[in-house]
Amino acid sequence: MSELPKYQNLVNGERVHAKSGQWLDSYNPYTGKPWAQIPRCDSSDVNEAVAVAKAAFKSGPWRGMTATERGKCLVRLADLTKERAAALGAIETQDNGKLIAEMTAQTNYLSEWYRYFGGLADKIEGSVLPMDKPSRFTYTKHEPIGVVAMITAWNSPLLLLTWKLAAALAAGCTAVIKPSEHASVSTLEFIDLVEKAGIPPGVVNTVTGLGPEAGAALASHPDVAKVAFTGGDFTGQKIYEAGAANLTPVSLELGGKSPNIIFADANLDAATMGAVSGIFAATGQTCIAGSRLLVERSAVDEVTERIIEVAKAAKMGDPSLMDTQVGPITTIPQRDHVLKMIEIGKQDGAKCLMGGGVPTENEFADGWFVQPTIFSGVDNSMNIAQKEVFGPVLSIIPFDSDEEALAIANDTVYGLASGVWTSDIGRAIKMADGIEAGTVWVNTYRAVSYTAPFGGYKRSGIGRESGQDSIYEFLQTKTVWIETDQSVANPFIIR
Ligand code: NDP
Repeated sequence: MSELPKYQNLVNGERVHAKSGQWLDSYNPYTGKPWAQIPRCDSSDVNEAVAVAKAAFKSGPWRGMTATERGKCLVRLADLTKERAAALGAIETQDNGKLIAEMTAQTNYLSEWYRYFGGLADKIEGSVLPMDKPSRFTYTKHEPIGVVAMITAWNSPLLLLTWKLAAALAAGCTAVIKPSEHASVSTLEFIDLVEKAGIPPGVVNTVTGLGPEAGAALASHPDVAKVAFTGGDFTGQKIYEAGAANLTPVSLELGGKSPNIIFADANLDAATMGAVSGIFAATGQTCIAGSRLLVERSAVDEVTERIIEVAKAAKMGDPSLMDTQVGPITTIPQRDHVLKMIEIGKQDGAKCLMGGGVPTENEFADGWFVQPTIFSGVDNSMNIAQKEVFGPVLSIIPFDSDEEALAIANDTVYGLASGVWTSDIGRAIKMADGIEAGTVWVNTYRAVSYTAPFGGYKRSGIGRESGQDSIYEFLQTKTVWIETDQSVANPFIIR
């Protein structure tokens, strides 16, 4: 067998192997075979990358640049990212098995975040404060927090990275990135563009490897000033605990069990597509999956039939083909987890209306596929309604009133996203007020934008990404007091 292509990390502008010389295979989930290798870094690689990022933050040319110059670098990065979007999307499809149509839509969109935050870089203003003590001139300024550790999940590697990196660079921070071991290659390819954009060496660095090894060393490093993480809630908890030892602030974008709520008065054509998009797009491997479909009882049979019709017609297969609609699951453990959750759903008494296992046709033999699966008769207390499946498994739950819909929607430890389908604007607003989630989509689903804050309530996370305010996740406020009265004050009384 010919040797697999090897991708190296970037530290201080240099391409480097892991110090141990060890490599990890990266698998193509459609062929089930390794297609590339990435360095298996450990704490010694992490220590070096953090030291480089710290030096770049404290004394390098990045620190001396004006916010306007930083912004221009980001706008150049936007252009370069756009030029490479197709190639980066194709890499992601090879690495995580998600559809080429989806991954290139994401990589094409990345440039907007760099452009938006590039524009924002020199619009972060402090304030001159109105003072109750007239002799004091007091103002605030916002300063970059320092080295940011960015740890990302495999399902949308560059999109999740970009939500962090664009804002952090605009703020003036430096970065050490640890992508998921299952999908690191697009990050290692993208990183070349950072320096081409004029961002100095050492400002953005990468360390690939295993979560409990490289990831844990990074999250607990005392010179990391902030951890920006996307992943599951239990890993998020570990990151929070690791950060606590150093009082490192964290932002956590975690999982969900999002309710997608269809009322009988909705446009059922649109709602059906919204339900399908909520759970079968990306083979359900999205944090915002609308995995609990709450349907008003009078419409539940019709909606169920329509969804089954669309789901049955969805073309499963090679994710690198533009017309494929359902691809494989990214990893074997994840596929096994999805299959286990399906079995638990059956044992708990939910009725499996379609799917429920692996496809048996020969063409799917090598890939890690799971059939799109629909359960009816689901009670919200069942495991498949409470636990994140992160696969193409839909639970349909009927309801009889607005109040009951809200109660079921909020009966979860998560609070990332939600959907409401209705033609009654008053009801839409009432539901949007009542749902405990960071995002409520009304008559749409799975929409994101660089202008719109994104993040979770409850166990779905801490902090927000995207939108103007998200830059403050990477800034800290300094208050400067200047005494203009030269008279000497009594030292024993608070001033
Ligand atoms: P994980 O939590 O398993 O991993 C996320 C990242 O953390 C990976 O880079 C992983 O590395 C790393 N990691 C694992 N263990 C540790 C550790 N002990 N210390 C530090 N880092 C660690 O999530 P998945 O990759 O499985 O992604 C799926 C999860 O991500 C789902 O729960 C999903 O909902 C959530 N998600 C949330 C999003 C949001 O914006 N809210 C968006 C997308 C996904 P490695 O992979 O190498 O083990």
